[in-house]
Amino acid sequence: MHDVLIRNALVYDGDDQPGVHADVAISGGRIVAIGQLHGQANAEFDAAGLALAPGFIDVHTHDDMEVLRNPSMVSKLSQGVTTVVVGNCGISASPVRIHGEVPDPMNLLGDAGDFRYPDFASYRDAVQRAQPAVNVAALVGHTALRQNHMDRLDRAASAAEITAMRAQLRQSLEQGALGLSSGLAYGSAFNAPSEEVQQLALELPDGGLYATHLRDEFGGILGAMQEAFDAARGPNAAVRVSHLKCAGIDNWGRSREVLDFLQATSAEQDVACDCYPYAASASTLDLKQVTDAYDILITWSEAEPAQGGRLLADIAADWNLPLLDAAVRLQPAGAVYHCMDEADVRRILSHPLTMIGSDGLPRDPRPHPRLWGTFPRVLGHYARDEQLFPLHTAIHKMTGLPASRFAMGARGRIRTGWWADLVLFDPARVRDTASFHDPIRAAEGIEAVWVNGQLAYDGEQVISRPGRFIRPEAPPSK
Ligand SMILES: [Zn+2]
Repeated sequence: MHDVLIRNALVYDGDDQPGVHADVAISGGRIVAIGQLHGQANAEFDAAGLALAPGFIDVHTHDDMEVLRNPSMVSKLSQGVTTVVVGNCGISASPVRIHGEVPDPMNLLGDAGDFRYPDFASYRDAVQRAQPAVNVAALVGHTALRQNHMDRLDRAASAAEITAMRAQLRQSLEQGALGLSSGLAYGSAFNAPSEEVQQLALELPDGGLYATHLRDEFGGILGAMQEAFDAARGPNAAVRVSHLKCAGIDNWGRSREVLDFLQATSAEQDVACDCYPYAASASTLDLKQVTDAYDILITWSEAEPAQGGRLLADIAADWNLPLLDAAVRLQPAGAVYHCMDEADVRRILSHPLTMIGSDGLPRDPRPHPRLWGTFPRVLGHYARDEQLFPLHTAIHKMTGLPASRFAMGARGRIRTGWWADLVLFDPARVRDTASFHDPIRAAEGIEAVWVNGQLAYDGEQVISRPGRFIRPEAPPSK
């Protein structure tokens, strides 16, 4: 007797190949049989007309605190996501000991009182206690380490500070961290020279992960990519370029060049990237990015809360101020920047080295719609409606590819003996409904989600929280 039997599904196994009709049986948290099955189960699902895929892996999130604060994780589970990678862009919940103000952009994660995890093990244990609905893997942020060991962040770290950061990174990796992340574009890390990151990366094991929000996503992007690849070369680490984009109008159309460089480097080094399916970015309001070349939507402002939800240009006009002065008055604040060209977004999404990551900001009161919409938007809008790539390619970019590129062991594929992280969806109906003006809306067409073999989402609500903290792990040798 199986725990669960899913009958007559169109099964996409997570490799980049078309689906096949089969039944899938689950027992003890694992996939135990695939094919024409005749046994019985405690729970049976008739999946005729539906697609069954490995649970989606959101490789780029800022859910560090969210998995503790709101462990039902409905924003992700309702998209079919079963695993999140936290700790991106140089900012992580641990290991962190805040002294004074929470530096930008660590304030995207939480307030000073939320940072209660002075070592990685205490965060890992907190995730286990919170029992989130999704699995959680965690990177350690370079900016977080700087915050711990430096009195100010607008300078390079000293040799002694680098030694202390390295020791803390080493300990975190021993305690189960997935790797290192950086956010060199932000003021809190911009003055860290390349050598500082190179030194930290030396703590990574062979094949260990270095995920980076590049120092420059605008005109200097190729140099910033080179800097990232150089940092990983010594330890033979794997580079994951975060939310790859060509930002700024002067930079539009350069995705070919950028992807060619990524592709060429992949012959020598393990490099890949993630991308979210929108032509607008979101983060804290960065004065360096203030421009009248495209719309900037203010999502929140501590100084001027009533301005949240309005365009910076309209606020500036009301106040009779230049854009930059208005932006200063709004600080600290969050913003959506319509800074990308759709053709670049499509080209990057389509590239074989590109995985899907939402970069969603769960703490934003008016979040970029990528938080609730990323995965169904790739499946529905880009794969089905726009035919940018086949459905199986879309699924591969959110399952098999990230599982193997982010050391997820026996996850991300529908194979006997592998973890039963699964999503059942209607390929004809799946679509994102979250928009820039109405961003907190669940996707349509996601019928059921299993995490570690347990039904966690029934198409309407979260019904159990079977997620686990996961350490980096090689895939099983088959
Ligand atoms: Zn980032």
